[in-house]
Amino acid sequence: MLRNDKRSTVCVSSQVGCPLDCLFCATGKMGFQRNLTHWEILEQVLLFARYLKKQRISNIVFMGMGEPFLNYDNVMEAIKTINDADCFNVGARKISISTAGIFSGIEKLSKEDIQINLSISLHAPNNQLRDRIMPINKKYPLSRVLDKADDYVKKTNRKVMLEYLMIKGLNDSLKEAEELYRLIKNRPLYMVNLIRYNPTGGFKGSDTKTVKAFKDYLEKKGIFATQRYEFGKDIKGACGQLIAGGENK
Ligand code: SF4
Repeated sequence: MLRNDKRSTVCVSSQVGCPLDCLFCATGKMGFQRNLTHWEILEQVLLFARYLKKQRISNIVFMGMGEPFLNYDNVMEAIKTINDADCFNVGARKISISTAGIFSGIEKLSKEDIQINLSISLHAPNNQLRDRIMPINKKYPLSRVLDKADDYVKKTNRKVMLEYLMIKGLNDSLKEAEELYRLIKNRPLYMVNLIRYNPTGGFKGSDTKTVKAFKDYLEKKGIFATQRYEFGKDIKGACGQLIAGGENK
């Protein structure tokens, strides 16, 4: 959970483990155990709502363990309750689902009658690198994921957030920034969210100067880019770090 005076953002899991096995991800190393029921997803939200007491949950992000679109029905069922004014009353535009690019999920979301946000976990600007760090790219390659996201934008006129983990020496050079720019320069409703990687296993996060240079490059080219500060690092609960019942190394 990320909390400040104005916002309390809760990061929710949709599965126990994850079948997608991204190279940099502690959750992926656990393998896939099972989908969470919609009640189990809601229990996570309820836990934080109780913890926060008077301060309401302002944002929900499906960026914890698992690929939400591989558990689509339970995720959407939970979102209806999260959004319900008589339950958690979190606005639809304050709820985000982050996917590695599962086509069927992007298509289904574009037909839903609820204006929640779509994020794509991109993490690489070309197929060669994305194949290496996200094996799912072999099934759902980068350009086709963005084609699906374009269809989503056409149908919904909503923005798409591209999540980009900054991993030292792997995907964080200005060459990659330029490739990323070329991918989205004609896609005005796409934004980039840079997230400094929290070290797990063999990778390190990019240093501050590198993240700034990457972001500055995109901004100078007219791309809307934000930087999310890592949260949950101390409890090994940040992006790519969630692991059940064990220590991350
Ligand atoms: S980064 Fe996300 S999609 Fe990839 S293995 Fe981890 S939880 Fe699954």
